[in-house]
Amino acid sequence: MSRDPRYDILFEPVQIGPVTAPNRFFQVPHCNGMGHQYPSSMAEMRAIKAEGGWGVVNTEEAEISHTSELSGVIEARLWDDSDIPALARMVEKVHAHGALAGIEPAHLGAGAANNYSREIPMGPSARPVDLSEPVQARAMDKADIRAFRKMHVDAALRARKAGFDIVYVYAGHDMTTLMHFLSHTRNDRTDEYGGSLENRVRLMREVLTDTKEAIGDTTAVAIRLAVDEMKGKDGIASDGEGREIVEMLAELPDLWDVNVSGWENDSQTSRFSEEGYQTDYISFVKSLTSKPVVGVGRFTSPDTMVSLVKKGVLDLIGAARPSIADPFLPKKIDEGRVEDIRECIGCNICVTADFLAHPMRCTQNPTMGEEWRRGWHPEYIADKSNSETVLIVGAGPAGLEAARALGQRGHAVTLSEGADHVGGRVAREATLPGLSAWKRVADYRAYRISQMPQVDLYLQSHLTAAQVMEFEADHVVIATGARWSATGIGRSNRQGIPASEGARVMTADDIIAGKTPEGPVVIFDDDYYYMAGLIAEKLRADGHDVTYVTPAADVSHWTHNTMEQERIQTRLMETGVKIVPLHNVIRAGAGAVDLECVYTGQVTSLPCGTFIPVTMRTPTDALYHDLIAEGMQPEKVTRIGDCLAPGTIAAAVYAGHRFAREFGEPPATGVPFRRELPRLAAE
Ligand code: ADP
Ligand code: SF4
Repeated sequence: MSRDPRYDILFEPVQIGPVTAPNRFFQVPHCNGMGHQYPSSMAEMRAIKAEGGWGVVNTEEAEISHTSELSGVIEARLWDDSDIPALARMVEKVHAHGALAGIEPAHLGAGAANNYSREIPMGPSARPVDLSEPVQARAMDKADIRAFRKMHVDAALRARKAGFDIVYVYAGHDMTTLMHFLSHTRNDRTDEYGGSLENRVRLMREVLTDTKEAIGDTTAVAIRLAVDEMKGKDGIASDGEGREIVEMLAELPDLWDVNVSGWENDSQTSRFSEEGYQTDYISFVKSLTSKPVVGVGRFTSPDTMVSLVKKGVLDLIGAARPSIADPFLPKKIDEGRVEDIRECIGCNICVTADFLAHPMRCTQNPTMGEEWRRGWHPEYIADKSNSETVLIVGAGPAGLEAARALGQRGHAVTLSEGADHVGGRVAREATLPGLSAWKRVADYRAYRISQMPQVDLYLQSHLTAAQVMEFEADHVVIATGARWSATGIGRSNRQGIPASEGARVMTADDIIAGKTPEGPVVIFDDDYYYMAGLIAEKLRADGHDVTYVTPAADVSHWTHNTMEQERIQTRLMETGVKIVPLHNVIRAGAGAVDLECVYTGQVTSLPCGTFIPVTMRTPTDALYHDLIAEGMQPEKVTRIGDCLAPGTIAAAVYAGHRFAREFGEPPATGVPFRRELPRLAAE
């Protein structure tokens, strides 16, 4: 198939200073939990994006000095020349596919506590560091400013030595020293670097000029600027200082990469924002500069991309998450295979890897982070190594992905689903407020399967053990999922929450299925991810009196890692959900539940017409056990996904993919993936 001519404009080259991007697809810098610690993984992950057609592929932020380091999370490093080879590896691999390689040197100032180097953080003015740690940054004096400028020049020279084509000067995400100088709330200096905006921009201008002088003849110098902090008059705003900064520096960089700040605003989830959510904030930039402009907004639709270019909003289509979910997005557009794009669902599971300091994963792309260590490619998979037929029971994310990937390997697959639609939990959860984009997990796979004659899907086909036995597939995969438990068993109540007679207990699944609770509703969140908060939001929107109780200090606690926590809590508070943090529910009665303070143990009673514990899920694994009881050989039947151990949707997709990759292959001995070990120093 060939490209739809409507999309030709996306494949035009773009001049960026002394270098030329081969097309308009621009993977903006993004963290990945690999960085300096797993550099081979990082390099291969970026290489695959270049192979997939991204014309520019950037690193994550790269710390420019040991005086500003983010130990505890894993970023790239450019502290000294010993960091060059790891980055050069990435550049080489990106270049091999004809893409440009970019790097984002960063000095984090009061954004880093320097727990490894034990250097005192520094910034424009004395301030506590942004992390909740007992560390303060000192105010930089003139010698510090000179040293800071030199650090940037040294980093730029090292970046050039590593072979990078584009080097950033980074003032974004409320996270770097340069941005802190720009901000009047962080910079109360009285010298020529503080006060007026002209003064606060001075260091940015100097670093840009220094960098251009050092490497600008061969290497493009990009600026990354947060043009709006979404703080109104208290912050940099696109109708205020954000605009003025762009006016002041308009022609100085070779490229403007513009976004909103902080990171939780830049990388909003689909629960809280639509594709293109940044456009209103950044669209002014192109009118003020002749240099190319790149911006992001979870763009996955080529029509949206074309319209942004045609309307003069962007020259380059920036993407972090869409390039993670589908590293081959540009190639699929180029080859007229738009339907094959695996669209990002905006869940931010990828972001959690940064906070939790492990290699990144993605709900939609199970190969993310596995490119080097397992040799997994997002588009290719080895042909089948035997001709066994496979029956998969359950078309949730695990079953769908197993069927898709086994089909891709050439196996004859039968996928049997009890419901009249595919998707399992994804189809159910996508009906909750804000989660409609999550359906893409099922849509992508259902479409791919529909193109495979070797995969047969049967809906409304609820199978019993006898029927499975009768089917006589060579191998059976049980992907029958899980259901929320009504027992209350969980982290806080290992043996469950006793319910006395007359207590009305419902589950999250009941609510999603449309059942109506009675009386005041009490939701107990001992799960800490999104479900309890979403059920509260839904029931409140339906007009119920809702109290949300959790042993944690705040609502949907784990969503700090997806950068949604504040938005979720705000929404619940604003819509009138009553919130009782730091309490366990220890008994459900008729008309009331008993709460226990997690610190003092004090017990209080709360009126309750319907109690909804969100504490754990129970695998739907009866079919598996029936099959074993009826004599099926354990090696002929495999449980995957939530029916083995309930987890995230990403984990279910990964389980399906992994099963398909490993099916028929000799079992791995020892650690089933390559490791990258620190080099042992000479004594
Ligand atoms: P996972 O996240 O592991 O993919 P889900 O709960 O999303 O699990 O999906 C499980 C799917 O399995 C659901 O769509 C459910 O309707 C289906 N299912 C469960 N039991 C059977 C069965 N015995 N026969 C056919 N389909 C089943
Ligand atoms: Fe998109 Fe979720 Fe994948 Fe991140 S993890 S790229 S948000 S689908």
